[in-house]
Amino acid sequence: MNKGLTFIVLAGLGLNFIQCDSEPEPSINPLPLSEAPADPCEEISREMLLGQVDPAKNDAFQIVPSLWTDKSEIYLKVEVLQAFDSMATAAAQEGIELKILSAMRTWEHQRSIWNRKWNNPRFMGYEPLERASKILEYSSMPGSSRHHWGTDLDLNSLENEYFESGIGLEQYEWMQKNAASYGFVQVYGDQLNGRTGYKEEKWHWSYWPTAQAYLACYLEIIDSASFDGFEGAEWSDSLQIISNYVTGIDELNPTIQP
Ligand SMILES: [Zn+2]
Repeated sequence: MNKGLTFIVLAGLGLNFIQCDSEPEPSINPLPLSEAPADPCEEISREMLLGQVDPAKNDAFQIVPSLWTDKSEIYLKVEVLQAFDSMATAAAQEGIELKILSAMRTWEHQRSIWNRKWNNPRFMGYEPLERASKILEYSSMPGSSRHHWGTDLDLNSLENEYFESGIGLEQYEWMQKNAASYGFVQVYGDQLNGRTGYKEEKWHWSYWPTAQAYLACYLEIIDSASFDGFEGAEWSDSLQIISNYVTGIDELNPTIQP
């Protein structure tokens, strides 16, 4: 065998090893879990990313107890609810009330919000592209909402103004100071840093450890062809929903470990 051929054969073997690494291995000589090559996107399905699951019938979700919400039957991912429970308990001990107004939303739910706004007289004076863009100031196109993931929640009021004085300001300041240590981040900040997408939402908090994995898989699995089946869906390409909105977020300060 000449040297060139040897190289090709060895290189081929090397390539096979690399390819095999990404596949689940049988139980022979398993790596410790922390070192095992894991592809989180194998466990995060397209349906989970697009909100096409019923949280009432899915073990990954848990109903939010009446202690933390006045809504009936709203759901969060199990670990998100756990983290919220710790945070809201700590807040309550300091006299700060945190109530969840909205949690996991299915694709169908998001579609009903979107279509209702689309047909609302408030938005009907606009040409379709501008109408979509106006609705997108505060609402997501179905299939692009972080609420689909069960990782994000809305707290106390859906008006920024509420959080700018009195009790609302106290609640917001408490969250700014403490939320990150429980893993929660306000992903839609004031945009002074050049963030694109939705306007500021002082009520919307995201559980970073889970949401971060969802976002990574979303960008790997979902494309704009997924936006279909609702009013104005044909404008999703021009509006660049994924690059402008889905990735238009503020991240958890990396120096804070939840
Ligand atoms: Zn929200």
